[in-house]
Amino acid sequence: MNIHEYQGKQLLKSYGLPVADGVAILKASDAEAAAKSLPGPLYVVKSQIHAGGRGKGKFKELGPDAKGGVRLAKSVADVVANVNEMFGNTLVTKQTGPAGKQVNRLYIEDGADIERELYLSILVDRTVGRVAFVVSTEGGMDIEAVAHDTPEKIITVAIDPQTGVTDKDVAALSKALKLDGAAAEDARTIFPTLYKAFVEKDMSLLEVNPLIVMKNGRIRVLDAKVSFDGNAEFRHPELAELRDLSEEDEKEIEASKYDLAYVALDGNIGCMVNGAGLAMATMDIIKLYGAEPANFLDVGGGASKEKVTAAFKIITADPAVKGILVNIFGGIMRCDVIAEGVIAAVKEVGLKVPLVVRLEGTNVELGKKIINESGLNVISADDLDDAAKKIVKAVKG
Ligand code: ADP
Ligand code: MG
Repeated sequence: MNIHEYQGKQLLKSYGLPVADGVAILKASDAEAAAKSLPGPLYVVKSQIHAGGRGKGKFKELGPDAKGGVRLAKSVADVVANVNEMFGNTLVTKQTGPAGKQVNRLYIEDGADIERELYLSILVDRTVGRVAFVVSTEGGMDIEAVAHDTPEKIITVAIDPQTGVTDKDVAALSKALKLDGAAAEDARTIFPTLYKAFVEKDMSLLEVNPLIVMKNGRIRVLDAKVSFDGNAEFRHPELAELRDLSEEDEKEIEASKYDLAYVALDGNIGCMVNGAGLAMATMDIIKLYGAEPANFLDVGGGASKEKVTAAFKIITADPAVKGILVNIFGGIMRCDVIAEGVIAAVKEVGLKVPLVVRLEGTNVELGKKIINESGLNVISADDLDDAAKKIVKAVKG
């Protein structure tokens, strides 16, 4: 689960970390009161969407010459003018895709006197099996470009879970970020505290880009991108209220209700598969034959008829789907259950696009019989290759 910058900052603030004062607003008319509650005279108006690159982003409605999604303002009136221009419009950034995201929340923040912009993130480094800090002196800009052009400027420090962040780790991080004086002093509490927040809240990513050194030498968290590990959700009922459903794909929300592993994609062939490995292979082979999958969907091992029905409905409800491929290898999952689920779903929602079904494994004969006797217009396939060819042909033809 992802949250907004202002929510991430509130969370970090509760750990005593240095973040600026700020007020989030959900309607433009709250801008003046929000700005007046801050010290001024410098303010920043920040679009709250679940995507980065907002500063360099562009509003669709305002044309290429308008300012981006993060704006400096020099007075309360300037804040209000910017809020009125930005609110409700669609921000397109490197991370939103061309469709962009509508800005329905803005964060009015105290402006900082920036001396240096640094990059810091904490993530799970799978190569060493540890939580690691990734830092760079080249913060504020496109970290992907830094990684590509000057990888030596990105430094990783993995943390031993038994000790947590040691003095040695702090020294290594401070050296990498060229911190001295008050900033180095701040770092001694900031790095261990960021780590503590990451671990306690079961985050999968905590990205602060930029972490800044201010003109007075002190450190501040200026941006915060926080993702939580969905598998640990049950341990954090306190985080549930931070979820912003308007930022999530409707089909993915529906799928999560049924515990289906579903990811919406850009193609037009809907896939219903059991097992993540088979789902990946199915997507690959669809691509091999020149088409694109509309989704990743793993119905899981012992899915019930209800779950299969729900999965099928989610696929058919997607207007981009021009054909469906059901590819099941029945191990724990029985082919007859899949067949019944598909038929139940089709009876409920109808079937307007070609459907190719490939069944193999436990109760395959019964599964095929159920489908054949259903009177549905199903194209059956013998193996994965055959199935992919048939659905691509049906969609393209
Ligand atoms: P994004 O990464 O989505 O573009 P950021 O929050 O990193 O958004 O803001 C982009 C840039 O705007 C920062 O790199 C920084 O230069 C400037 N900025 C952001 N917040 C403030 C602030 N409170 N005071 C001064 N400058 C800011
Ligand atoms: Mg940023």
